[in-house]
Amino acid sequence: MNLLLKTKLSLLCFLLIFLKMEAQSLVDIATLSSEFDYEIRYATPNNFIGETLYDCAKCLLQAEVAEALLAANQYFCEKGYKIKLYDCYRPLDVQKKMWAKVPRATYVANPYGKGSIHNKGAAVDITLVTLEGCYVEMGSDYDFFGREAHIDNYNFSETILANRKLLIDGMRKHGFNTVRTEWWHYSFRKNWSYPTLNDPLPCQ
Ligand SMILES: [Zn+2]
Repeated sequence: MNLLLKTKLSLLCFLLIFLKMEAQSLVDIATLSSEFDYEIRYATPNNFIGETLYDCAKCLLQAEVAEALLAANQYFCEKGYKIKLYDCYRPLDVQKKMWAKVPRATYVANPYGKGSIHNKGAAVDITLVTLEGCYVEMGSDYDFFGREAHIDNYNFSETILANRKLLIDGMRKHGFNTVRTEWWHYSFRKNWSYPTLNDPLPCQ
């Protein structure tokens, strides 16, 4: 084996180990708190693709993002609500499946461009439920692609607008940004330093 090939293989090994370490840096939020509700839609066929995309219903996040979400959940708890998780870390291959179905950057981040902040483990799709787990109306279903999901659409009852405001205010206070077209999506503000990941969810 010549020296150049050996060097290339060493670099490849290093890169693979590095990527593996990055993926392992994600934390399962269930190990930090039992106070979240879960409805991980991509672990079921009840999603806009109509197929089960995850092997298990887990919420993995960067540690810093998980800590911020825990603080947000405590804020909501003191007001009589808790966070229900729809989606957290999403492998890049799943992003590609979504893009194949809905190649519209307004609703699905392009996996061949920058990808989604979900691919970095630094974004969450969430709603609120009461502390007893009861439904809180937000004006549209999760992953509804249309005007009813936009946060600058104020054509709703006072109750819905108040529910949305509570969610937005609580998440912004804890370091998350909104996107205009999806009331459920929050990206952690300091997300740029995290790598895009493609490891499957650790289901075993
Ligand atoms: Zn999202």
